[in-house]
Amino acid sequence: MNAAGTGVVIVGSGLAGISVARELRKLDAAVPIRIVTADSGGFYSKPNLSNALAAGKTATQLMQTPREALEKQLSIRIDAGVRVTHIRLAGGLLETSAGSINYEKLVLASGAQPIRLPIAGDGAAAVLSVNHIDDYAVFREKLASPSVKRVAILGAGLIGSEFANDLRSGGFEVEVFDIAPQALGRLLPAQAAAFMRQRLEAAGVKFHFGVGATTIEHASATGGSIYRLTDSAGSIHAVDLVLSAVGLKPDTRLAVAAGLAVNRGIVTDRQLRCRVADARNVEVFAVGDCAEVEGLNLPYVMPIMAQARALAKTLAGVPTDVAYPAMPVVVKTPACPTVICPPPSGVAGDWQEDTSAEGVRAVFTSPDGSLRGFALCGAAMPEKSALAARLPALL
Ligand SMILES: Cc1cc2nc3c(=O)[nH]c(=O)nc-3n(C[C@H](O)[C@H](O)[C@H](O)COP(=O)(O)OP(=O)(O)OC[C@H]3O[C@@H](n4cnc5c(N)ncnc54)[C@H](O)[C@@H]3O)c2cc1C
Repeated sequence: MNAAGTGVVIVGSGLAGISVARELRKLDAAVPIRIVTADSGGFYSKPNLSNALAAGKTATQLMQTPREALEKQLSIRIDAGVRVTHIRLAGGLLETSAGSINYEKLVLASGAQPIRLPIAGDGAAAVLSVNHIDDYAVFREKLASPSVKRVAILGAGLIGSEFANDLRSGGFEVEVFDIAPQALGRLLPAQAAAFMRQRLEAAGVKFHFGVGATTIEHASATGGSIYRLTDSAGSIHAVDLVLSAVGLKPDTRLAVAAGLAVNRGIVTDRQLRCRVADARNVEVFAVGDCAEVEGLNLPYVMPIMAQARALAKTLAGVPTDVAYPAMPVVVKTPACPTVICPPPSGVAGDWQEDTSAEGVRAVFTSPDGSLRGFALCGAAMPEKSALAARLPALL
């Protein structure tokens, strides 16, 4: 297979951008591939960021393939530290912090941005988010200070719970705040969430459900902590570091400014193709956390790999629809091993949960009795493959 024209330009060097380059190179040894990225351009596995602390890993140790090695390995060009500032669709031109770049086939893999909560106080600006290896380096550096012992985590979702477990295993005091009444509110049914809470509490994590952080102020020198966090119930908590894990929103800024269709993410069809009005000579695609494929924005590794494989075939000249099998997500909380395959949104049905002292088996079935999702904690984990095999494909 041979991709015609001047090659493929990819914006972003996260899992999505680099996977498209890898998959395309497998199919076409010659097509020019150029990645333009605001960061250092190396490959790392982002899921490792929320369980690397207890393992003692630094950001440098987590970087798996630095830019130069990746360029050599895949015979690609990576423009690192270059920010794309505008996409011109007419004429196929990217404006960047290092000049303009022509393209015919453009792949947007710009990822997602952490959501920032409106919090008052002179300590609010110091709240950290970890959505990138560079964020992790800053986080590790702060944690290394002897005065940091107590960490507040905003958000008890997947990433907040993983960080809570990891920080606790790393010897920190951990308090987690969430306005929801339970952990992993959008993913776990009630008994499974209660089991997760109990296991993490047994490991020493403290949860505050039904409350959020309203104010973060520097504490007085005599206060014994770096910050004073006031929650929405009016209670005050002495903390030394605040990590926000309240969610990510697809980074659609370039697409919006270019006039591409954007809903939650950049709208694409099943071939990851964006609708481009008046496009004569350009094709634009979106993959990864920034993309909304046939109405689905799935910011996880398995869908991204499926997208990258399909898009590589399309770019190599064989138009290919992405297919999503059931894609369970493992929650990296060693205190409570958990795997979740949530039902597709809008599907009618109910959860049935079987709880024992050792685990929870939760299955979501539709009114016709068919299995549409599951969550397994602790001793129920071994059923993962059997249940996943019974689920219909998502797309
Ligand atoms: C802590 C954490 C743990 C996770 N754990 C899991 C897990 O266990 N399992 C799982 O399935 N998923 C997990 N995920 C989700 C998964 O890691 C992400 O879905 C995936 O890494 C996203 O990859 P991406 O390439 O789409 O985005 P990103 O990794 O965000 O990459 C975006 C790229 O775009 C570049 N960029 C953006 N704007 C511009 C611009 N204007 N100009 C140039 N470059 C630009 C950035 O520099 C970056 O290189 C986790 C996520 C986090 C944050």
